[in-house]
Amino acid sequence: MPASNKPRATEPTSGEKTYKGNCFCGAVQFTVTGEPAAMGYCHCESCRTWSAGPVNAFTLWKPESVNITHGADNIGGYSKTPNSHRQWCKKCGGHLFTDHPGMGLIDVYAAVIPEFPHQAGVHVHYQETKLPMKDGLPKMKDLPEEMGGSGVSVAE
Ligand SMILES: [Zn+2]
Ligand SMILES: [Zn+2]
Repeated sequence: MPASNKPRATEPTSGEKTYKGNCFCGAVQFTVTGEPAAMGYCHCESCRTWSAGPVNAFTLWKPESVNITHGADNIGGYSKTPNSHRQWCKKCGGHLFTDHPGMGLIDVYAAVIPEFPHQAGVHVHYQETKLPMKDGLPKMKDLPEEMGGSGVSVAE
């Protein structure tokens, strides 16, 4: 099993743009810095049942781009599979991230970084969709090949 990605505990030093995020109650605060590796919507059953929502707007970041600034002790986690370590605030239950150690990336939910301009480039796990979205973006049956999937596209 790959080692977990640990968000770093130090401030970024680059001149890249930083966006603040927090959980539902504000006990956990963090920043993301720079550009995400990918952005889109995930329609998989795991995201739906965990979030209790029809789709998850994701932004995938290198671990060094995610910086916990307050309340790291309040972060709880659950791993149903070794590939997804889901993390939330233990005070309010608000969701924060899903760490994907196999990809070397952390999914920071677009909903918890409200000022970050989420621009979806792809829909993933679209074969499982409960909320079809006819927006002209690519629809992957599961995942792109570079993310360990089949790379097969499906119709909207
Ligand atoms: Zn909270
Ligand atoms: Zn998903």
